[in-house]
Amino acid sequence: MLYSSAGLLALIIHLIINHDVLFRTSRTELFPAHRFYRAFLVSVLCYYGADILWGILYERQLITLTFLDTELYFLTMGCSILFWTRYTVEYLQENNTFGKLLRLTGQILFHAHNLLLAANFVYPILFSFDSQGVYHAEIGRYVTLVLQILMFLMTSVYAVVISSRSQGTRKFRHRTIGISSAAMAGFCIAQALHPLLPLYAIGCMLASCVLHSFVLENEKQDYQNSLEEKLKESILNGNYYDLLTGLPGMTYFLERTEKRRADLLKKGGRPALLYLDLSGVKFFNHRYGFTAGDKLLQSFAGLLKQTFGEENCSRFGSDHFVVFTEQEGLEDTLWELFHTWKTLDTRDRPAIRAGIYLDDGSTDLSTACDCAKTARDSIRNTYVSDLRFYDHKMLETAERRQYIISHLDQAMEEGWIQVYYQPIIRAASGRVCDEEALARWIDPERGFLSPADFIPILEEANLIYKLDLHVIDLVLKKMHQLQSSGLYLVPQSVNLSRSDFDMTDMVDTISRKMDASGLPRHLLSIEITESIVGSDFEFIRREIDRFRAAGFPVWMDDFGSGYSSLDVLSNVTVDLIKLDMRFMQQFDSTDRSRIVLTELMKMAIGLGIDTICEGVERSDQMEFMRDIGCTKLQGYYYTKPLPVNQILERYEKGIQIGFENPQESAYFEAIGRINLHDLAVIAQEDEPDLHHYFNTIPMAVIEVHDGCLRFARTNQAYRNFMAQTFHIRTADYTETYSKPPEGHETPFFRALQKFCREGGRSIIDETLSDGTVIHFFMRKVAYNPVTDTSAAVVAVLAVSSEPYKTAAD
Ligand code: C2E
Ligand code: MG
Ligand code: MG
Repeated sequence: MLYSSAGLLALIIHLIINHDVLFRTSRTELFPAHRFYRAFLVSVLCYYGADILWGILYERQLITLTFLDTELYFLTMGCSILFWTRYTVEYLQENNTFGKLLRLTGQILFHAHNLLLAANFVYPILFSFDSQGVYHAEIGRYVTLVLQILMFLMTSVYAVVISSRSQGTRKFRHRTIGISSAAMAGFCIAQALHPLLPLYAIGCMLASCVLHSFVLENEKQDYQNSLEEKLKESILNGNYYDLLTGLPGMTYFLERTEKRRADLLKKGGRPALLYLDLSGVKFFNHRYGFTAGDKLLQSFAGLLKQTFGEENCSRFGSDHFVVFTEQEGLEDTLWELFHTWKTLDTRDRPAIRAGIYLDDGSTDLSTACDCAKTARDSIRNTYVSDLRFYDHKMLETAERRQYIISHLDQAMEEGWIQVYYQPIIRAASGRVCDEEALARWIDPERGFLSPADFIPILEEANLIYKLDLHVIDLVLKKMHQLQSSGLYLVPQSVNLSRSDFDMTDMVDTISRKMDASGLPRHLLSIEITESIVGSDFEFIRREIDRFRAAGFPVWMDDFGSGYSSLDVLSNVTVDLIKLDMRFMQQFDSTDRSRIVLTELMKMAIGLGIDTICEGVERSDQMEFMRDIGCTKLQGYYYTKPLPVNQILERYEKGIQIGFENPQESAYFEAIGRINLHDLAVIAQEDEPDLHHYFNTIPMAVIEVHDGCLRFARTNQAYRNFMAQTFHIRTADYTETYSKPPEGHETPFFRALQKFCREGGRSIIDETLSDGTVIHFFMRKVAYNPVTDTSAAVVAVLAVSSEPYKTAAD
C-alpha cells in the first residue's frame, strides 16, 4: 500500500504542476517542441497509473493481473524515455548528427524494448513471478535498464554541450534540461538497485517539476517580456511589431532587412524573399472561430521563427508573412516546413502557399517582396502546400488579371462588354435556327479582348456570374430589337461557367430575368460544358434538371472533350449535345474520324437528342455531318460571331443567312434527324425484308409540294446512283421543285405523292426503258404547315433485271 501511495502522490502532484501543458494546447501552439513534452507527460501519467495498480495487485497476489500490469508499466516507461529524448532533441533545435543519432537510437531502443515485452509473454526474459508470486527482474530488464540509463546520460551530455554554446536564459534552460536528464538517469539506477521502490516515478515527478519551474515558466516569462518589450517599442516608436504573433511589422521589417540584404549582397551571398500565406484561412475561421484562427496564425509564426529566425520574419497583415533568407537549400527547407506544418496536430490546417523571389539586388526590397507575392498569387486554391519561383511573365499575367478584375463593373456599365452572335444553321433547311451569344471585351485602352483573355480570370475570381447575367440582359435586349425589326425570333444560347452556380441561384435568377422580359423561356438555351458536369456531377445534374423543368433547353457544350463524355451523357438528360470543335479539327478523309462521328450521331439519334457540330469550316465537313444526321451546324464556314448591328446591316444588304420561321422548326427537325448512313433509322425494327441490305445504301429525303418534288437531303451513294442511272447531278436545295411531264408519271412518283398525302411506307419497283428494275423503299417523315410541303425518305434497295420479291410473296 505504501508503494501505491507514493505513486498516487506523484500522480496528483504531476497533474497539479503540469495541468496547463497537459490540458491547454496553446502552449504547444507557441512552442512546437512542447508537443513531445506533452507526450512525455501523458506517458508518465499512464506510467503512474500502472505503478499504483501494480502495488495493489502485487499485495493481493493477483499474479496474472500483476503480470499484465507489469507489461503495461514497462511499455509506458519505454514511451516516456522515447518522448523525453525527442523533446530534448527538438527543444535544442540543433540539426546535427549527434541529435539525429540520439533520435534514432531512442526509436531503436523503444522498438527493441517492445519486442522484449512481447517475447516476455512466452519466455521470462524481462521479468517473472515465481510460484510464491514473488517478482523477479530477469537479465533483459537489466540490459534495457542499462540502455535506458545510457539514453538519459547521452541526452544529458547533449543538452549540457549545447548549453555551453547558448546565451542568456536559453543557456540556463538548456542546462536545466541536461541536469534533469542526469537526475532521471540517477533515479533509473536507484530503481535498478531497489526494484520494489517507486523510484523511477519519483524521478519523473522531480524532473517534470524542475522543468516546469525552470524551463517552461522561464520560457513563458521570456515570451511575455519580449511581447511587453515589443508593445513598449510599438507604443513609443510607432507600429514596429505585430501584437498577435510578435513578429516585426512590415515597415520595421523592411527597414531592418534593407541593411542586412545590402551586406549579404556585398559579401557575394544570394538572398531570397519569401511571401507566404495560408490557403483557406477564412474557411478555417468560419469553422473553428476567430480564437482558433488567431492561434493558427501564432503557430504558423512560431514555425517560421523556428525555421528562419525571428529577425528574418514579418507579418504583413492578415495571414500574409514575409521572410528574408538565403537561397542555399531553400527549397528543401520549405518542403520540410510544409511537412512539419502538416504534422503539427490533427486539426485540418490550411495549406501553405509560398512565393519565392531569388534576389539579385536588381530591385529595391519592397519590389522584391512584391515579386515574391506575385509568385505566391500564381498558386491558387490549393489544398496541399506548394511553392512557386517568380518569373517575369508572372508579373504581366498578374497585372492583366488585376486589370480585368478591377475594371469588370466599369466595362459592363460603359458598354465595353459586347455580345457577338454566331448563327447556328439547320442542316435540313440551310437557315439560322439558333444563335450562340459570345462575350467580347472591347477595351478603350487594350483593344479587342477575346473570351480566352478574360473568362478564365473572371471564373477564378468568382466574378463570371456578373458577366454571364449581363450577357443574358444584353441578349434579351437584342431579341426585343430583332422582334421590332420584324425578323423571326430564333432561340439564343448562352454559356454558363461552373462558379456561376456557387455565386447565385442561376435557375431562379435567369427565370426571373426571362419572365420580366416577357419572352418565352424556351427561347433561351443554356450551354453547360461537359467538363463542368463532370466536375461536380450530382449538383450540376440537379441544376440541369431544374433548368429543364423551368422550361429552358439545356445544351451540353464541347461534348467529347473530356474523358468521361459517354458516362456523363448516360446519366444526365440534356436537350442537345454540341460536338467539340476538336472533331472537326481532326476530321480528315480517313475512315476513323468518320466512323467515330457516325456512331456518335447514331447514339444521339437513339437518345432522341439534337446535335450541333461546332467549328465547321469546310464544305466537306458540312456535307458529311449533314449526311450522318447532325441536325445543326456552326462554324466559320457559315459566319464568324458578329455584333448585332452588323447582323442587321447584313440583313439589309441581303447577305445574311435568313432566320428560320419557328413554325417550320418541327418539320426541319424531323427531316434533319434522319441518318442517311443508317438504314435502320428508316426501316425500323419490323422491316425484316430490309435486313439483308448493306448499310450505306443510296438514301434521300425528298420533299413534295403541289405535285412537284425536290431533293432536301441526299447521301453520296444516292448522288452516285442518280448520276450513273439517270445521268442527273443531284444537289440538295439548290435545285427547284420539278414536275414530271404530263402522262409520264412513273410508279415511283405516284407512290411518293400517295405516301406524302396519306402517310405510310412501302417498297416500290420502277422499271426503266432498258428493262432495269429499281427497288425503292419509301416512308413519309414530316409535314410543313407553312409551305404545305411533305417529306419522305427514300432508299434504293437494289437495281436488278427482275422485280423485287418480298417475304410475303
Ligand atoms: P464555346 O462556347 O465552345 O464557343 C465556341 C467558340 O468557338 C467561340 O470562341 C467561337 O468564336 C469559336 N468558333 C466558332 N466557330 C468556329 C470555327 O469554325 N473555327 C474555330 N476555330 N473557332 C470557331 P470564343 O467566342 O472565343 O469563345 C470561347 C469560349 O469562351 C466559348 O467556347 C465559351 O466556353 C466561353 N465563352 C464565351 N462567351 C462566354 C460567356 O458569355 N460566358 C461564359 N461563361 N463563357 C463564355
Ligand atoms: Mg458554347
Ligand atoms: Mg463549344
